[in-house]
Amino acid sequence: MKKVLILSGAGLSAESGLKTFRESNGLWEEHDVMEVCSASGFRKNPKKVREFYDERRAQLEKVKPNHAHEMIAKLKAEFKDQIFVITQNVDDLLERAGCKDVIHLHGFLPELYCASCGTHFNIAYKKQESTTCPKCKQPFLRHNIVMFEEPAPQYQTLYEALNQSGLFVCIGTSGYVLPVGHFASMCEHSILNNLDADPALDSCFDKVYTQKASTAIDQIALDIRNYLGGNYV
Ligand SMILES: [Zn+2]
Repeated sequence: MKKVLILSGAGLSAESGLKTFRESNGLWEEHDVMEVCSASGFRKNPKKVREFYDERRAQLEKVKPNHAHEMIAKLKAEFKDQIFVITQNVDDLLERAGCKDVIHLHGFLPELYCASCGTHFNIAYKKQESTTCPKCKQPFLRHNIVMFEEPAPQYQTLYEALNQSGLFVCIGTSGYVLPVGHFASMCEHSILNNLDADPALDSCFDKVYTQKASTAIDQIALDIRNYLGGNYV
């Protein structure tokens, strides 16, 4: 069966108003990234990190999915298991657009998890009130975000999806965190959509749309429909 992998990054949610630290010189909403996004920073000052993610959840509640999130949700509903939707984003904007089975490579902001028993708890946009796990009562409840210096277990899922896909669609990610140019070479066809041109990266893909995700998504949807219908050009 022909399959398509849609991998998205910060550029997908930027138009909804969510900033990422990579836009602002090592600062994410005025916080030092290593203090709030690394395992060592979390050990040093867990309260600061908890408050940081409390703020991120409060911010997430105020933003809305954009046309690109909605179109990805529509494609997923239409083609189901023929499309993998994998994102580097920790927000829930794809889910709020109605997208099913989204794989979050770097965690999911509305969730906490217990580092002792592994249970996940969805607290939506609320503050984390306690570090005590409601299930096992151990004091290891934390944000479900993969931090620097921590393994990302879903990378295995990403590689399995790449091995099954004939079309790789990369939306709103520069290739700084993941080797997306290499991923393109693993699939027969590949499409890149970023706001800024990057000649080295662009040359790895057979189609490149250098524009906003919400503008490019209609053409990308057509490309995906054509590919799954056997008419990709
Ligand atoms: Zn627990």
